[in-house]
Amino acid sequence: MVIKEYVTDSNIFYMGIPFQSDFSFKYYITPEILGEINHIKKKIDGLNLLLSLKKVIIVEPSLANIAYILNKIKSLGQFGLSKPDSSILALGFQLNLPIISTDYTVINTAKFLSLDTIVPGKSNFEVKQNKKYCSICKRYFAIRFLYCNQCGNKLIFKSIKK
Ligand SMILES: [Zn+2]
Repeated sequence: MVIKEYVTDSNIFYMGIPFQSDFSFKYYITPEILGEINHIKKKIDGLNLLLSLKKVIIVEPSLANIAYILNKIKSLGQFGLSKPDSSILALGFQLNLPIISTDYTVINTAKFLSLDTIVPGKSNFEVKQNKKYCSICKRYFAIRFLYCNQCGNKLIFKSIKK
């Protein structure tokens, strides 16, 4: 049996995916992601079961890997990531496993860091386009631009509907 292993975002738990999948799947999470999914109260029993069966495994990324990822994120000018978001990027990098998420900011940043990604139900996202955005001039730019050519402001990532 081939085990499929993923570093898993909290939104995947909100969708219920780990609770429905068979034993050929393993879901790695960070303590920060555990904190987020503990908010879904009714799923807690299910989660504890998955944890005790080692179908969901909590791993804390090393401080060196977190620092490496935070540095990379900073150099990309990406400010839309939470601490849990950064933690799964660091864990994906550390374990060399694909990151599964429905959050386009996480997915795009992972791609820029050359990490493998999986978006379940990808057709839901195909209408979205990724752009860079100047929050001062309210203008969109192609993804390769780092700075606004009007005002010099550092651009941020944005997913927009086509
Ligand atoms: Zn601007």
